[in-house]
Order: sequence, then structure tokens, then C-alpha cells
Amino acid sequence: MTTDLKTETPLLQLVGVSKHFGELRAVDDVSLNINAGSVTCLVGPSGSGKSTLLRTVNMMEAIDGGAIFFEGRMIGHEVRKGHRVPVSKRVARKQTLNFGMVFQHFNLFPHYTALENVTIAPMIVKGVKKEAAKEIGRRVLQQVGLGNRMDHYPSELSGGQQQRVAIARALAMEPKVLLFDEPTSALDPELVSEVLTVMRGLADLGSTMMIVTHEMRFAEDVADEVIMMDAGRIIERGAPKTVLHSPSTPRAKKFFASVGTLAPQERLDAQ
Ligand code: ADP
Ligand code: MG
Repeated sequence: MTTDLKTETPLLQLVGVSKHFGELRAVDDVSLNINAGSVTCLVGPSGSGKSTLLRTVNMMEAIDGGAIFFEGRMIGHEVRKGHRVPVSKRVARKQTLNFGMVFQHFNLFPHYTALENVTIAPMIVKGVKKEAAKEIGRRVLQQVGLGNRMDHYPSELSGGQQQRVAIARALAMEPKVLLFDEPTSALDPELVSEVLTVMRGLADLGSTMMIVTHEMRFAEDVADEVIMMDAGRIIERGAPKTVLHSPSTPRAKKFFASVGTLAPQERLDAQ
């Protein structure tokens, strides 16, 4: 929980961010602040722009409008001679190192062991020496509860274990913000909790996380703020209990009624 009363610069700040695909406003004028050590859960119907929003943050999608600031400095773009221009590829690569992303589909290299999957990026992207990378790899695999699976290949691991390797892979790069895009949506139901437990552990350690999820109970327990998107816009935001149980807009009431989190009286109102 971020309980600081002093006004601090948010770690990450989105100001009027937009991303269009042709006529479609996938992300439409989104502003939000992410404080260091906070957990923000993004929820909303399919197609509402959650993934696109996450992808704009780590520059997998170039934004069409607005600005993104990290530690108070604009990222993705810079102002040159009074004009805003995209940063160079080299600068962009450096800026994206602040973010670690975990996807729905874990996409591990099938011919590498868990440890090799985790150590390859630090070695290639950051130039970490093999032994040092292995040390990091062992530490982060232990952190996700896979200390006894380091030499296993992905095909020898369950989906939940593979996703935990993918989380370890993100952690090995020591990002300042972890971005999760529906990390449990591709898993068999009985494997969801082991991944959520790892994520909860990261939250308890003070990791800054933005999480797109349909796991409403997890969002309620772990998030400092829940943000609901619809049609590219933020339509509800606030404390998890308020947003999930008694949102203010009819659209949000309908959505949370369908996922079963709405308070009884609100459910009647939403019908
Ligand atoms: P969500 O993650 O909330 O399901 P997305 O961010 O994936 O939503 O998508 C938001 C909207 O943008 C959808 O209508 C989707 O079809 C569209 N979209 C996403 N990526 C692309 C793309 N690369 N090209 C065209 N349309 C896209
Ligand atoms: Mg998505």
C-alpha cells in the first residue's frame, strides 16, 4: 500500500495517451499515475484496450497522442528544436529496460532449460557474464519456487511452472516496473493459484506492477488501485472494493455483475 502523504513524483505517468489503429481508438486519452511499489490492476471486457495500453508503456506500440513519463522524464519521445520526435532505437532499447513484461503465452525457448531461458536476456541484452547471469538466474528461479526445476526443459514443466519461469525471466532483467498481460488466462484452472501466489509475493516485496487480469479476487486482495477500461477509455478507477463492488457507471455495473463481484443491491440496480 502506498500511504505516503507527501506528494511524490509518480514512477510512471501516462498523460492523455492515445493509440489508434486506423479509425479505431484502441486507447483513447488515458491518463494514470503509477507510484513506486504500487499494484494496479487493469480490468475490462475483451477489446477494451488493456493489452494495447500495457504495450504502449513498454513501447511495443508507438503512441499517437499524449505522453508517457518515467521517473519524471518523457520516454518514447523527446523534444528536439521544439518538435516532438520518437527517440532513437538505442535510447528506446535503454528505456524499455525499465519494464519487464509477462504475457498470457509464456513463449519459452523449448530447447533451453529453465535456467538457460532466464539467463539468456541478461547475457545478450545487458552483457552480463555467464557465471553472474547464472547466479541471477538461480536466485530468481528460487524466488518463483522453481529452485528444483532449473535444469528442466519447458516440455517437462506444467503450464503454471512455465509461466513462473517466464516471470523469473522478467525478474532476471531487474526491471523497475513489471507488466503482466493476463498471466493466468492460458492456464488450466488448478494451475492459476501457484502463479498468483508468486505475483502476490512480488507485490509483498514492494514490486511496482501493472496487471491486466480477470482474476477479480486477486485484484481485490492485491491491488492498490483497480482501473476499468471500456472502448479504449478508463471508465472507473479507485480502491478495489469500491470499483469491484459498487462502481458508479452503468457500464461498469453491468461488467462487474457479469463477473460476479457486484454487491447485492448494486446487482439489482444493474439489471
Ligand atoms: P484487450 O486487451 O482489452 O482485450 P486490446 O488492447 O487487445 O484489448 O485491443 C483493443 C482494440 O484494438 C480491439 O478492438 C483490437 O481488435 C484492436 N487492436 C489491437 N491490436 C491491434 C492491431 N495491431 N491492429 C489493429 N487493431 C488492433
Ligand atoms: Mg488483451
